[in-house]
Amino acid sequence: MRPDLRTQQRDFLLEISRAITAQLDLSEVLRRVLHASLVMLAGRVGIVALSDKHDGAFSVRAYSGIAADDLPQLNGKLQELMQPQEEGGFSREFLNSKLREMADLVDPRLAQSIAMPLVFARNPLGLLIVFRSYQTSITQEDLKTLQSFADQAAIAVNNAQLYGEINQEHQRLEAILNNSGDGVFILNPDLSFQRVNQAFERITGWRREDAIGLPKNDVIVWDALESPDIEVALERGWAQLETADGASNTLYVEGDLKRRDGMTLSIGITYAPLLTADGRLESIIANVRDITSFRKTQEMQSVFISTVHHELRTPIAIIKGYASTLGRDDVEWDSQVIRENVAIIEDEADRLTDLVEDLLTASKIQAARDLRLNIADTNLRLIAARSVARLESQTKHPIVLSFADNFPLIPGDEIRLRQVIENLLTNAIKYAPEDTTITLGGRFTEKSVTVFVRDEGAGIPKDEIDKVFERFYRVDDQLTSRTHGTGLGLYLVKAVVEAHGGEISVKSMVGSGSTFFFTLPRD
Ligand code: ADP
Repeated sequence: MRPDLRTQQRDFLLEISRAITAQLDLSEVLRRVLHASLVMLAGRVGIVALSDKHDGAFSVRAYSGIAADDLPQLNGKLQELMQPQEEGGFSREFLNSKLREMADLVDPRLAQSIAMPLVFARNPLGLLIVFRSYQTSITQEDLKTLQSFADQAAIAVNNAQLYGEINQEHQRLEAILNNSGDGVFILNPDLSFQRVNQAFERITGWRREDAIGLPKNDVIVWDALESPDIEVALERGWAQLETADGASNTLYVEGDLKRRDGMTLSIGITYAPLLTADGRLESIIANVRDITSFRKTQEMQSVFISTVHHELRTPIAIIKGYASTLGRDDVEWDSQVIRENVAIIEDEADRLTDLVEDLLTASKIQAARDLRLNIADTNLRLIAARSVARLESQTKHPIVLSFADNFPLIPGDEIRLRQVIENLLTNAIKYAPEDTTITLGGRFTEKSVTVFVRDEGAGIPKDEIDKVFERFYRVDDQLTSRTHGTGLGLYLVKAVVEAHGGEISVKSMVGSGSTFFFTLPRD
């Protein structure tokens, strides 16, 4: 090769490798490769065709001296190279005949073609083809020159493919991270936030742009922590850590997190270190799970067991006591005592039946999330009057009925609505001092009816008002501890009212009494 040509080739190669390291877009690198090849080999037309990673099909990715209209046909010809390639490669003659056909397609005056495969690490990636308008011998020099450019093109194609794969992997991880139901955050070795996902934002109330860069302890603020946090792992070294399930190298901590908005939430965090090949800590990946409802269920279960235990034991003990008294064969009971004792046994048996019924209904609601109703025209005013008549004999509270005239019939389940009214009345009787008045009333509008039960009792503290409708919830005070109850009554009341498409609410002031209202639609 002439010295000036050699210099030119070197300059081209330098320029192309610079373009590759500068991570210029692949088409631009291929365009430069093609330009260099054409100049060096005095070609008139040139193409770079790449084969598809999946099906191996060739298509033109850079071209020179060709009208864009010719591309589809050229791609078609390139496809014909596919078949013999699959069967173990094509022969020189076959390639030459195809190159001839391509040349004819572009310009029949093209006299000669030189093709060079792009190969990286033995993987065929494509073809670099130069067409000349004159016929001359193809020298070893020509082939070497073209080879040097094809090699550069192969590097660029391989880089682009790797970059594409990394990018795809990155996107996949991103999608997994963002769609994960668990919160995920990544910490730098200095424990500052590197990344957080959407679920993390939801759980902690911290937006990612605010959290990133902050020290961990500015964001993860514990209200209560059951075991030491990540700092311990860093002090002791990861290998020393053992989790409950025996897996080492991760750390699990559980506690009450103070969210950004001040609310607290029970969470569990699993930390896992990401180490470099030489064992240095690169980052820490943490998974956050909201365990509030899990904890609540656990709490509820233990409340349930102690409530049921207590509530079942008391009537059973009473029944047993009275029955064994009556059964003594050393005493002759007169009929008055027997009647009184049997009445008490009956009352307690009724209490047991009610309790079991309540428990069954509560578990049905929980399982089916709704309640089956037998809807018919229902007279709430009549139900109220009957309930008052039944309960009046059991209490010293004066009970006042206050229903509006013409109080309408509504569609409802009579048995369930009687349960609602009796539950509210029983609560008023239980939680208001004897001799204070209880009012059971009803009002209506065109669209709905409202029934209320008002008492002059101790009232319910403001922060407890919403909780009294929860399953097994009882206000923790002296009054409640003196009275029987399971904390199921209002839960069932709410479920029945809502199953009717209605709403329940309560107005209460500590010291001056409570009024429970429920509103039901008229149609
Ligand atoms: P129970 O009466 O079996 O405890 P409820 O679900 O009916 O269960 O009521 C839940 C809690 O709400 C009660 O334990 C009590 O603390 C409170 N509560 C209900 N009704 C009243 C009321 N009329 N006045 C004051 N507190 C009440």
